[in-house]
Amino acid sequence: MHYFFDPLISEASDHIGSGELIHFKSLRITKDERIAITSGKGFGFQARVIDPSTGEIEIADKLVANPRAAIHLVQSIAKGGRDEAALQAATELGIASATALQAERSISRWDSKIEKNLDRWQQIAVAAIKQSQQLVLPEIYHCESVSRLQPIGVALVLDPRAELQIGQIAPADSYTVVVGPEGGFSQSELDEMASKGFVGVRLGDSVLRTSTAGAVAIGCLQLISGELGKRLD
Ligand code: SAM
Repeated sequence: MHYFFDPLISEASDHIGSGELIHFKSLRITKDERIAITSGKGFGFQARVIDPSTGEIEIADKLVANPRAAIHLVQSIAKGGRDEAALQAATELGIASATALQAERSISRWDSKIEKNLDRWQQIAVAAIKQSQQLVLPEIYHCESVSRLQPIGVALVLDPRAELQIGQIAPADSYTVVVGPEGGFSQSELDEMASKGFVGVRLGDSVLRTSTAGAVAIGCLQLISGELGKRLD
Protein backbone atom coordinates (compact mmCIF):
# COMPACT_ATOMS: atom_id res chain seq x y z
CA MET A 1 0.00 0.00 0.00
CA HIS A 2 1.31 3.47 -0.87
CA TYR A 3 1.81 5.83 2.08
CA PHE A 4 1.44 9.61 1.86
CA PHE A 5 2.24 12.33 4.38
CA ASP A 6 -0.23 15.00 5.42
CA PRO A 7 0.17 16.63 8.85
CA LEU A 8 -3.41 17.97 8.54
CA ILE A 9 -5.12 14.67 7.71
CA SER A 10 -8.34 14.05 9.67
CA GLU A 11 -11.59 12.02 9.56
CA ALA A 12 -13.09 14.92 7.61
CA SER A 13 -10.48 14.94 4.81
CA ASP A 14 -11.84 14.23 1.32
CA HIS A 15 -8.74 14.92 -0.80
CA ILE A 16 -5.11 14.00 -0.66
CA GLY A 17 -3.11 16.93 0.76
CA SER A 18 -1.94 19.40 -1.89
CA GLY A 19 1.70 18.78 -0.95
CA GLU A 20 1.36 15.14 -2.01
CA LEU A 21 -0.77 15.55 -5.16
CA ILE A 22 2.13 15.43 -7.63
CA HIS A 23 3.57 12.33 -5.94
CA PHE A 24 0.08 10.76 -5.83
CA LYS A 25 -0.49 11.34 -9.56
CA SER A 26 2.97 10.07 -10.49
CA LEU A 27 2.15 6.65 -8.98
CA ARG A 28 -0.74 5.99 -11.41
CA ILE A 29 -3.03 5.00 -8.57
CA THR A 30 -6.37 3.58 -9.70
CA LYS A 31 -9.96 4.19 -8.58
CA ASP A 32 -10.91 2.21 -5.44
CA GLU A 33 -7.25 1.53 -4.62
CA ARG A 34 -6.46 1.66 -0.89
CA ILE A 35 -3.81 4.09 0.26
CA ALA A 36 -2.66 5.26 3.68
CA ILE A 37 -1.98 8.78 4.86
CA THR A 38 0.28 9.35 7.86
CA SER A 39 0.03 12.54 9.90
CA GLY A 40 3.51 11.99 11.36
CA LYS A 41 1.90 12.66 14.76
CA GLY A 42 1.29 9.04 15.73
CA PHE A 43 -1.85 8.40 13.74
CA GLY A 44 -3.06 8.17 10.16
CA PHE A 45 -5.85 6.78 8.03
CA GLN A 46 -6.42 4.24 5.35
CA ALA A 47 -8.47 5.68 2.52
CA ARG A 48 -10.17 4.58 -0.70
CA VAL A 49 -9.38 6.52 -3.85
CA ILE A 50 -12.54 7.98 -5.39
CA ASP A 51 -10.97 9.98 -8.24
CA PRO A 52 -7.30 9.45 -9.13
CA SER A 53 -7.24 12.53 -11.36
CA THR A 54 -8.16 14.97 -8.55
CA GLY A 55 -6.89 13.11 -5.48
CA GLU A 56 -10.39 12.68 -4.07
CA ILE A 57 -10.48 10.06 -1.31
CA GLU A 58 -12.85 8.51 1.20
CA ILE A 59 -11.39 8.11 4.67
CA ALA A 60 -11.65 4.57 6.08
CA ASP A 61 -9.88 2.98 9.06
CA LYS A 62 -7.89 5.02 11.56
CA LEU A 63 -4.30 3.87 12.15
CA VAL A 64 -2.63 4.44 15.51
CA ALA A 65 1.06 3.97 16.30
CA ASN A 66 1.97 1.20 18.76
CA PRO A 67 3.66 2.34 21.97
CA ARG A 68 7.44 2.02 21.76
CA ALA A 69 10.59 3.20 23.49
CA ALA A 70 11.38 6.79 22.42
CA ILE A 71 14.85 6.75 20.87
CA HIS A 72 16.52 10.12 20.31
CA LEU A 73 19.35 9.91 17.78
CA VAL A 74 22.14 12.47 17.94
CA GLN A 75 24.07 12.01 14.70
CA SER A 76 27.35 13.83 14.11
CA ILE A 77 27.43 15.75 10.86
CA ALA A 78 29.54 13.78 8.37
CA LYS A 79 30.74 14.24 4.82
CA GLY A 80 29.59 12.45 1.69
CA GLY A 81 25.97 12.17 2.79
CA ARG A 82 26.82 9.68 5.55
CA ASP A 83 24.86 11.65 8.15
CA GLU A 84 21.84 11.66 5.83
CA ALA A 85 22.16 7.90 5.27
CA ALA A 86 22.24 7.47 9.06
CA LEU A 87 19.12 9.62 9.45
CA GLN A 88 17.29 7.68 6.75
CA ALA A 89 18.06 4.25 8.24
CA ALA A 90 17.28 5.40 11.80
CA THR A 91 13.97 6.89 10.70
CA GLU A 92 13.02 3.68 8.92
CA LEU A 93 13.64 1.80 12.18
CA GLY A 94 11.65 4.37 14.18
CA ILE A 95 13.00 7.25 16.26
CA ALA A 96 11.40 10.06 18.22
CA SER A 97 13.92 12.71 17.20
CA ALA A 98 17.12 13.23 15.24
CA THR A 99 19.67 15.89 16.10
CA ALA A 100 22.45 16.91 13.72
CA LEU A 101 25.50 17.42 15.93
CA GLN A 102 28.41 19.62 14.89
CA ALA A 103 31.21 17.54 16.41
CA GLU A 104 34.79 18.80 16.70
CA ARG A 105 35.98 16.34 14.06
CA SER A 106 33.00 16.73 11.69
CA ILE A 107 34.70 17.42 8.37
CA SER A 108 31.55 18.94 6.95
CA ARG A 109 30.19 22.10 8.67
CA TRP A 110 26.65 23.49 8.49
CA ASP A 111 27.55 27.01 9.75
CA SER A 112 25.47 29.44 7.64
CA LYS A 113 23.41 26.60 6.07
CA ILE A 114 21.65 25.36 9.20
CA GLU A 115 18.10 26.20 8.04
CA LYS A 116 18.68 24.74 4.58
CA ASN A 117 20.17 21.53 5.97
CA LEU A 118 17.45 21.15 8.60
CA ASP A 119 14.92 21.43 5.79
CA ARG A 120 16.76 18.71 3.87
CA TRP A 121 16.82 16.44 6.95
CA GLN A 122 13.08 17.04 7.34
CA GLN A 123 12.48 15.94 3.74
CA ILE A 124 14.62 12.82 4.23
CA ALA A 125 12.65 11.94 7.38
CA VAL A 126 9.30 12.42 5.61
CA ALA A 127 10.40 10.19 2.71
CA ALA A 128 11.65 7.57 5.18
CA ILE A 129 8.41 7.37 7.20
CA LYS A 130 6.40 7.01 3.98
CA GLN A 131 8.72 4.29 2.71
CA SER A 132 8.70 2.43 6.04
CA GLN A 133 4.96 3.00 6.60
CA GLN A 134 5.23 4.75 9.93
CA LEU A 135 2.94 7.12 11.75
CA VAL A 136 5.55 9.10 13.73
CA LEU A 137 7.73 11.72 12.06
CA PRO A 138 10.86 12.38 14.16
CA GLU A 139 11.48 15.91 15.38
CA ILE A 140 14.59 17.33 13.69
CA TYR A 141 17.09 19.52 15.55
CA HIS A 142 20.58 20.94 15.20
CA CYS A 143 23.13 21.14 18.04
CA GLU A 144 26.27 23.23 17.65
CA SER A 145 28.47 21.23 20.06
CA VAL A 146 28.36 18.41 22.60
CA SER A 147 28.42 21.06 25.37
CA ARG A 148 24.81 21.94 24.36
CA LEU A 149 23.49 18.35 24.39
CA GLN A 150 20.63 17.58 26.77
CA PRO A 151 20.06 13.83 27.13
CA ILE A 152 16.59 12.33 27.43
CA GLY A 153 16.24 8.99 29.21
CA VAL A 154 19.17 6.55 29.22
CA ALA A 155 22.06 8.52 27.70
CA LEU A 156 24.44 6.50 25.51
CA VAL A 157 27.45 7.55 23.45
CA LEU A 158 28.58 4.99 20.87
CA ASP A 159 32.30 4.44 21.32
CA PRO A 160 34.27 1.53 19.80
CA ARG A 161 36.65 1.61 22.80
CA ALA A 162 33.96 1.40 25.50
CA GLU A 163 33.98 -1.49 27.98
CA LEU A 164 30.20 -1.79 28.11
CA GLN A 165 28.50 -3.70 25.28
CA ILE A 166 25.11 -2.57 23.98
CA GLY A 167 23.60 -5.92 25.00
CA GLN A 168 24.24 -5.00 28.65
CA ILE A 169 21.93 -1.97 28.51
CA ALA A 170 18.68 -2.31 30.49
CA PRO A 171 15.18 -1.90 28.99
CA ALA A 172 13.90 1.69 29.27
CA ASP A 173 11.14 3.96 27.97
CA SER A 174 13.56 6.40 26.35
CA TYR A 175 17.15 6.58 25.19
CA THR A 176 19.45 9.18 23.71
CA VAL A 177 22.05 7.66 21.36
CA VAL A 178 25.00 9.80 20.22
CA VAL A 179 27.04 8.77 17.17
CA GLY A 180 30.46 10.24 16.43
CA PRO A 181 31.81 11.62 13.13
CA GLU A 182 34.25 9.88 10.74
CA GLY A 183 37.20 10.42 13.08
CA GLY A 184 35.30 9.70 16.29
CA PHE A 185 34.87 12.03 19.27
CA SER A 186 37.79 13.88 20.87
CA GLN A 187 38.64 12.98 24.48
CA SER A 188 37.33 16.37 25.66
CA GLU A 189 33.98 15.71 23.95
CA LEU A 190 33.79 12.25 25.58
CA ASP A 191 34.64 13.80 28.96
CA GLU A 192 31.99 16.50 28.49
CA MET A 193 29.36 13.90 27.63
CA ALA A 194 30.41 11.73 30.61
CA SER A 195 29.87 14.76 32.87
CA LYS A 196 26.29 14.98 31.52
CA GLY A 197 25.63 11.32 32.31
CA PHE A 198 26.32 9.76 28.92
CA VAL A 199 27.66 6.21 29.19
CA GLY A 200 29.95 4.80 26.46
CA VAL A 201 28.75 1.64 24.74
CA ARG A 202 30.33 -0.61 22.15
CA LEU A 203 28.64 -2.42 19.26
CA GLY A 204 30.76 -5.55 19.07
CA ASP A 205 34.32 -5.57 17.75
CA SER A 206 33.89 -4.00 14.28
CA VAL A 207 34.50 -0.30 13.79
CA LEU A 208 31.44 0.76 11.83
CA ARG A 209 30.95 3.78 9.62
CA THR A 210 29.08 6.68 11.21
CA SER A 211 26.26 5.95 8.73
CA THR A 212 25.86 2.40 10.10
CA ALA A 213 26.45 2.65 13.85
CA GLY A 214 23.24 4.49 14.85
CA ALA A 215 20.96 2.04 13.02
CA VAL A 216 22.70 -0.93 14.65
CA ALA A 217 22.31 0.62 18.10
CA ILE A 218 18.64 1.48 17.49
CA GLY A 219 17.88 -2.08 16.36
CA CYS A 220 19.58 -3.44 19.50
CA LEU A 221 17.69 -1.03 21.78
CA GLN A 222 14.38 -1.95 20.12
CA LEU A 223 15.18 -5.60 20.81
CA ILE A 224 16.16 -4.81 24.42
CA SER A 225 13.00 -2.78 25.00
CA GLY A 226 10.82 -5.61 23.66
CA GLU A 227 9.63 -3.89 20.51
CA LEU A 228 10.94 -6.56 18.14
CA GLY A 229 9.19 -9.37 19.99
CA LYS A 230 9.62 -11.45 23.10
CA ARG A 231 12.18 -14.25 23.32
CA LEU A 232 10.90 -17.79 22.79
CA ASP A 233 11.90 -20.09 25.66
N1 SAM B 1 38.52 5.85 14.90
C1 SAM B 1 37.22 6.33 15.31
C2 SAM B 1 37.00 6.01 16.78
O1 SAM B 1 37.73 5.19 17.31
O2 SAM B 1 36.09 6.57 17.41
C3 SAM B 1 36.18 5.63 14.45
C4 SAM B 1 34.98 6.43 14.29
S1 SAM B 1 33.63 5.54 13.57
C5 SAM B 1 34.06 5.53 11.91
C6 SAM B 1 32.34 6.73 13.69
C7 SAM B 1 31.46 6.59 14.90
O3 SAM B 1 30.65 5.43 14.79
C8 SAM B 1 32.16 6.45 16.23
O4 SAM B 1 32.52 7.71 16.77
C9 SAM B 1 31.09 5.78 17.08
O5 SAM B 1 30.16 6.71 17.59
C10 SAM B 1 30.41 4.89 16.08
N2 SAM B 1 30.92 3.52 16.07
C11 SAM B 1 31.51 2.86 15.04
N3 SAM B 1 31.78 1.60 15.38
C12 SAM B 1 31.40 1.44 16.66
C13 SAM B 1 31.44 0.35 17.58
N4 SAM B 1 31.93 -0.84 17.26
N5 SAM B 1 30.93 0.54 18.81
C14 SAM B 1 30.42 1.72 19.16
N6 SAM B 1 30.37 2.79 18.34
C15 SAM B 1 30.85 2.66 17.09
